Amino acid sequence: MNSSPDNIMTHNINISDAKKPFLSVVVPLYNEEETITDTLPAIHKQCSALDVSDFEIVAIDDGSSDATLDILHNLCKYHNQIRIIAFNRNFGKEAAIHAGLVYAKGDAVIVMDGDGQHPEQLLPKMIKHWEEGAKVVVACKAVRGQESIISKFSAFAFYWLFKNLTKLDIENISDFMLLDRVVVDHYCQLPERRRFFRGMIIWMGFTTAKIYFEVPPRVSGNSSWSKVALFKLGSTAISSFTSSPLHLISILAVVYFACTLIFGGIALFDKLSGRAVTGFTTVIILILMTGTFIMFGLGQLGLYIERMYEELKNRPPYFINTSKSTIDFNQDLK
Ligand code: UDP
Ligand code: MG
Repeated sequence: MNSSPDNIMTHNINISDAKKPFLSVVVPLYNEEETITDTLPAIHKQCSALDVSDFEIVAIDDGSSDATLDILHNLCKYHNQIRIIAFNRNFGKEAAIHAGLVYAKGDAVIVMDGDGQHPEQLLPKMIKHWEEGAKVVVACKAVRGQESIISKFSAFAFYWLFKNLTKLDIENISDFMLLDRVVVDHYCQLPERRRFFRGMIIWMGFTTAKIYFEVPPRVSGNSSWSKVALFKLGSTAISSFTSSPLHLISILAVVYFACTLIFGGIALFDKLSGRAVTGFTTVIILILMTGTFIMFGLGQLGLYIERMYEELKNRPPYFINTSKSTIDFNQDLK
């Protein structure tokens, strides 16, 4: 066995490196041939400069129809920390992030866009917050990028609705996040298929630090979100966190019942005072009563559908902050 000083030195470095964290960076990519030749090497360079034992970049090609996948394979030749997950077709950013988190091995995992709109210069700051104890570090948009008035209004309406219906505040929070291994494991164990990454992470409620950044313009190309895709994401977001819209039926039933009382009463009054056309009172009262029964019936069904929906989601009822609890979670669980 060779025990030269060099060997001992190498051995020591490995031991100290072993204490340092392993970092994963998850990057979802869809038709980014024009951007990744700049962005991925920049992320790689930034990661190489970090005080970590090693790192990996998990690049997910979300079924791109351009040369993104070929370029990724080419980049791998020069940067062996890049690992590629290639989807069969375009499954959407949420699915790409999910796959990346499932296969990321890091003690900390950073999720960021590959179009240059999530500045890699923030990585050291994120790691610092994580080392200081935050389990989640979210990069919030200090100023939204250039947007049309319609986009601004839609975003405002969505966040207003989301906040008021779900009591979770995700305004200005981006998908650019660092997650501790514990958070990643919990996120991957959640059984839902249609996911809203940002919302679900905030819903889990782990200790969160926020940092702010200005969204730079895309390196090139355009945002791949159409208005329809954004609307779908918005409705997934709201329906994943609240079943309040179902309660609307019960509220409408009460309104309908009030109308029945008022208009039924008027029709009956007209009948008794001899002003009503023959048969009209019976018809109007029957219509109003049938409507009321149907509305209340739908409201009741809504209640049971809500229960089924909650059970189907099968989310854990709570998450425990182990560092602040005094129970020994390995010993005390019987
Ligand atoms: N993206 C993806 N699948 C999609 C749409 C987008 O993986 O179906 C990726 C995209 O390549 C980029 C990130 O998600 O890395 C953010 O996408 P985009 O820039 O289009 O969204 P925006 O910045 O407008 O939110
Ligand atoms: Mg973008």
